[in-house]
Amino acid sequence: MNAPVSILCDFDGTISIRDMVAAVSLEFAPQGSRALIESIQRQDMTVRDGVTQMFRLIPADKYPDMVRYARERTVLRPGVFALIDYAMKNSWKFSVVSGGFDFFVRPALMPVASFIDIYCNRVRARDGFLDVVWPYGCDDECNGGCGLCKPAILRKNRAAGYKVVVIGDGITDLKSARLADYVFARGILADRLKDEGISHTTFETFHDIIREWSSSEAEVHQYVG
Ligand SMILES: [Zn+2]
Repeated sequence: MNAPVSILCDFDGTISIRDMVAAVSLEFAPQGSRALIESIQRQDMTVRDGVTQMFRLIPADKYPDMVRYARERTVLRPGVFALIDYAMKNSWKFSVVSGGFDFFVRPALMPVASFIDIYCNRVRARDGFLDVVWPYGCDDECNGGCGLCKPAILRKNRAAGYKVVVIGDGITDLKSARLADYVFARGILADRLKDEGISHTTFETFHDIIREWSSSEAEVHQYVG
């Protein structure tokens, strides 16, 4: 019997068209955020340190405005609910694994929340500013700094007997993509995987992923299924 499939799907830039972590911090801490975002992108600073510092710039009383801003501006990439439905019909596990925050990830996924697992971060008030809470830190096998550790979540799924498929777009998906059984990638992640010679399929919408997976000729079937 084939191993069961577990899909780990990124949120910012993947399910959500925009990176809402960057959008929120640029809106509410415009002075300091851009340099920190660029440092993270260049990998001069860990995600954990960069995102923690960005949110420390935002006064805690801005939280309700931030929640409203993020909810109004989160636009989902077409086909995400169709892909979750496709996964459910195949009895696959679907997890959203996000370095973003519960206040915009959970509302966006409300229609499917009872069918999937959601891993994300949250913020609290500390000394008048926002403080990021990281509930899913790095495990012993990770080299650290992830904030929310996607490789650690991948390893837990694999230890439970799953073949793991990663779907993502950014630098924060790279470590887990290297470990995955197969990857659907777009953006910087696709560029980096191409450079590293790691098998993957690119996509624009989640309908592309369903179409690919539905084809018996697709490369994903060599690794998963
Ligand atoms: Zn880690």
